[in-house]
Amino acid sequence: MIVVMKPKATPQQVEHVKQLVQEMGLTSHVIVGTERTVVAAVGDKRGVDKSFLENTEGVEKIVPILAPYKIASRETKTEPSEVEIRPGVRIGGKNVGVVAGPCTVESRDGLLRIAEAVKAAGAIGLRGGAFKPRTSPYSFQGLGEEGLKYLAEVREQTGLAIVTEVMAVDKVEMVAAYADVLQIGARNMQNYNLLQAVGQQGKPVMLKRGMSATLEEFLLAAEYIISQGNRNVILCERGIRTFEQYVRNTLPLAVVPELKRVSHLPVVVDPSHGTGHAYLVPAMCRAAVAAGADGLIIEVHDDPEHAVSDGAQSITPEAFAEVMGECAKIAQAIGRLL
Ligand code: PEP
Ligand code: MN
Repeated sequence: MIVVMKPKATPQQVEHVKQLVQEMGLTSHVIVGTERTVVAAVGDKRGVDKSFLENTEGVEKIVPILAPYKIASRETKTEPSEVEIRPGVRIGGKNVGVVAGPCTVESRDGLLRIAEAVKAAGAIGLRGGAFKPRTSPYSFQGLGEEGLKYLAEVREQTGLAIVTEVMAVDKVEMVAAYADVLQIGARNMQNYNLLQAVGQQGKPVMLKRGMSATLEEFLLAAEYIISQGNRNVILCERGIRTFEQYVRNTLPLAVVPELKRVSHLPVVVDPSHGTGHAYLVPAMCRAAVAAGADGLIIEVHDDPEHAVSDGAQSITPEAFAEVMGECAKIAQAIGRLL
């Protein structure tokens, strides 16, 4: 249920509504919009009569939230959200933000070289896994905390925001100490303990869609994070598993306008995992921007043939600079900035 406050409602009236909601055993989330404030009341209290709230001072009306995801829904917040990933750097809104870098953090020097190249081409963030979810237990699992240190060092030198994956609840604190954005990988999209743990800390979260998750399951996973208090969630479409074999995953770009229709959360697209082939990445970057994505996350490596992981889908810094120029033109054509 959403309690819509009158445009002139006072902070005391909002506070009073919040208290009434909590007295009913529901959780309240106050969402301040440009026009008015709403208090979203969520929880499983179907039998409780809440209708008296419409007579409370400062309240305009109460409306049910029909979507199963509540705070992530457009019904709760009609304006699109922006997520600040570094002071003054936002994903969402008019800007299209691009995060780029290697699949895995391999070495300090290699990371810095790639970071400088992607920064020069206009990236706002650096990606790179220090903890890697590998399909085989015999594959390289990442440098762990050493990798996180390299990422933080490179941020100091370049100013790029760091996006890196956290795979386990007991590593959330450590990863959050180094990263600007915590990535939840596709394989962990339904790891509910992990979702709650990243919801209880303060860094923004980039949530990747599970490879077999429906759009509703994806948004309910986001709701797990938000319901813990962290509203800074960025959704990432990275492709789903289908019968197709010419791609590693099938990248369903219609999800971008659909997610933006039903949710206020920013949406970024990962054309690297979404195709699996470097030769398909630039076209899907362009298509994602044209479809209205708020950002891209792209694997870039300066020696893809020797990349520790995902070399086949990593584009070179040169290809990255070229596609950035193309995407900037597309962004401009649809009234956005890159
Ligand atoms: C990655 O970003 O390198 C990664 C492992 O992605 P996903 O979780 O989407 O497979
Ligand atoms: Mn990868």
